[in-house]
Amino acid sequence: MERESPAEPPAVEEVVPGVTRIALPLGGITGGVNVHLVRGDGPTTLVDSAMPLPGTMEALEAALVTAGSSIDEVELVLVTHHHLDHTGLAAQIADRSGAAIAATAQTAEAIADPHGLLVREVAWGERHIARHGAPDDLLGMARQGEPLVRGLPTAGTSRVLVDGDVVRAGDLDLTVRERPGHSPSDTLFVEERPVVAGRPLAFVGDHVFRSAPLTPVLGSMLGTDARPAAAYLAALEETAAVPGLVALTGHGPALLDVAALHADRRGALDRRTGRVRDALRTEPRGTWDLGLEVWRGVPSSRHGLTRLGALLASLELLEDAGEVEQVLLDGDRVGWRATGG
Ligand SMILES: [Zn+2]
Repeated sequence: MERESPAEPPAVEEVVPGVTRIALPLGGITGGVNVHLVRGDGPTTLVDSAMPLPGTMEALEAALVTAGSSIDEVELVLVTHHHLDHTGLAAQIADRSGAAIAATAQTAEAIADPHGLLVREVAWGERHIARHGAPDDLLGMARQGEPLVRGLPTAGTSRVLVDGDVVRAGDLDLTVRERPGHSPSDTLFVEERPVVAGRPLAFVGDHVFRSAPLTPVLGSMLGTDARPAAAYLAALEETAAVPGLVALTGHGPALLDVAALHADRRGALDRRTGRVRDALRTEPRGTWDLGLEVWRGVPSSRHGLTRLGALLASLELLEDAGEVEQVLLDGDRVGWRATGG
């Protein structure tokens, strides 16, 4: 994985008139994480609030000045989902600027108690990897986040959003669309009028990812009867059906052809699901053992949870199609077998 130089200034780019993308560091991951600044007649707004790494608040303040604004002008912080690289500085920005925070209830909970959320996620993760026979080091990254959130300032959310609400930001009227999938809290902010060269625009957070496999991110917020892969596919199909949508994403530049990207990734998911189906023709297997057979090589601890999530997405689709079923191996450990149908 490429590393960005710590001295590299944040990228500041006007993506469409009134909307500026600010890319901030994300622990060395190329491309970082985006905060979008929205300006116009309505409230000066930040969409998402970056990863709370040392120096990032200062980098954001400098980037706002580069963009011709300042932290004091920010009146509203909109948050696309509960992940720490999107909620991280919300409380500090609100504290410095007096801005209101607007987010859905699950994201509001993460902003109010990031440490409690991390503790729940790690406990959930320990049960998850034990059930699926995966190695414990997959939780290393989550555990490393503990010192980062332990002392993190927290904030209340002044406006708790629900699907269908409309939020004014700059010159945009953004309709709130709850589209769970990448995470249970995924929220899109959609300007349905054709504001950019005749095209509608949406802030999509990580709902549409440029390159990673189509993976529902599992965790403590999901109920045990959730069908996360089916939910994610349904949500993505709704987004991909909006003609000409300009998608402003959480990481990297805007996406201009969501339908083509979705079709491509859906195809890759279907091919992986076919390999999983083939691998189960011989005998029942535990989830991780099945993965080791299907994957090309053992995933790194950094990517292991994502690979496991992608595998479980395929298994969910096969289970719903009546082609495989879950069995209990030993104790609580989950296995899978072909139904023979
Ligand atoms: Zn995310």
